[in-house]
Amino acid sequence: MDFNWTEEQKIWRTTVRNFAERKIKPYVREIDSNKQIPKKIVEDMAKLGLFAPTVSQKYGGSEVDWTMACIAAEELGRADISLAVPVLYLVEAAWGHIFHLYGSDDLKNEYLSNITAGKQFCGIAVTEPTGGSDIVGAVNTRATKKGKSWQLSGEKLFISGITESSTWGGIHLTLARTNPTKDHKGFSFFAIPLKDEAQIKTTLLEDMGRMGISTGGFVMDDLEVPSHYLIGEENKGFYYAMEGFSLARVLIGATCIGAAEAALEMGKEHITSRSSFGRPIAQYEGIQFPFAEHYTNIESVKLLTYRAAWLLTQMYQKKQYTHHDISLAAAMTKLRAPQYAFQVMNEVADWLGATGYTKEHDIEMGIRGIRSYSIGAEGTMNIMRIIIAREVLGKEFLPY
Ligand SMILES: Cc1cc2nc3c(=O)[nH]c(=O)nc-3n(C[C@H](O)[C@H](O)[C@H](O)COP(=O)(O)OP(=O)(O)OC[C@H]3O[C@@H](n4cnc5c(N)ncnc54)[C@H](O)[C@@H]3O)c2cc1C
Repeated sequence: MDFNWTEEQKIWRTTVRNFAERKIKPYVREIDSNKQIPKKIVEDMAKLGLFAPTVSQKYGGSEVDWTMACIAAEELGRADISLAVPVLYLVEAAWGHIFHLYGSDDLKNEYLSNITAGKQFCGIAVTEPTGGSDIVGAVNTRATKKGKSWQLSGEKLFISGITESSTWGGIHLTLARTNPTKDHKGFSFFAIPLKDEAQIKTTLLEDMGRMGISTGGFVMDDLEVPSHYLIGEENKGFYYAMEGFSLARVLIGATCIGAAEAALEMGKEHITSRSSFGRPIAQYEGIQFPFAEHYTNIESVKLLTYRAAWLLTQMYQKKQYTHHDISLAAAMTKLRAPQYAFQVMNEVADWLGATGYTKEHDIEMGIRGIRSYSIGAEGTMNIMRIIIAREVLGKEFLPY
């Protein structure tokens, strides 16, 4: 077992860190206030190959492995603790990869190079007003074959990237029922473009955090898409969605590590310089013991996350592991990373005293942003626990 980073990984980390320090970090408060990521940042990210970096060079990707993809996620999380830029990165990295794996050539020729160039958006639309955890019970969007096209009706809600997709163009990989008599084997995945679609109405929600990337929904009313907008095989959509969620969860782990490290560094800076009762507060065990706990928690989740990234690379490059291994590793990562990151940020806010409750300090952006991942984006904590229990105890212990 070798815990060293390779030369390539070190160079990549330094490159992304330098880029993010200069081109993203100074603008995070502005992104949070203006509720959008400046186009210049998006263009610069594209130049560095930060959109869907695992996809093939044929479609403008960099063909990096999942450790490299996670290093970028970590560094973006470190620079933007509001998490807007990291979310933009990781949603496109995960779902761009699924699009690359299963999308038809015609569809990829239409969209994928624009996605890797940062000109168009690639998102995921599973959740509906009726729920996100119980996909089989809650997803009611219907897709019906009409000659050479598919007709979709239904509503998606709490979807990231609605403004981005409807202004830049691009697609949301959208889960719909194609066989209502089947359970999870009756769903298919479709590429749905939101821009300029008369049969789609979009809505926007005001989130509490990660303000630079939009969240909202869309209603499809007899929307027709050509047959090649079906992703992969009919009735396999549920499996593609699960695969994509696992990718996203590993990247979320890396992003949370970066944001937690940045927060702990802010905390360290404060506790070593702020004095109370005649000495730096870092000298008090009430401060330094939690510091030690948080430091250790971050290190432990790093091991979970980078092992999960390694498993992903093995699965895709060497076909050595199955999605069962991946979904377990990804769920453990997603269970721990957002919780630990939130705990660090909450503690750092305490250490900061009154400053921690103001917009003078970045920590409040972090707390608002990280809650998206501990509440539920890409799966709630309880769903992660269910996946872990299912993989370890066996399906027979699922309550349904
Ligand atoms: C900021 C943000 C961005 C998002 N972006 C996207 C996106 O781009 N695309 C997309 O498709 N979705 C997106 N989502 C939606 C997200 O996937 C859902 O919020 C999530 O799946 C949970 O669904 P829900 O909100 O309907 O809660 P519910 O499924 O209704 O769950 C409510 C609560 O019940 C718990 N619960 C449910 N079932 C069980 C059970 N069996 N055992 C124990 N507890 C249970 C859950 O853990 C949760 O605490 C986003 C969410 C957020 C917050």
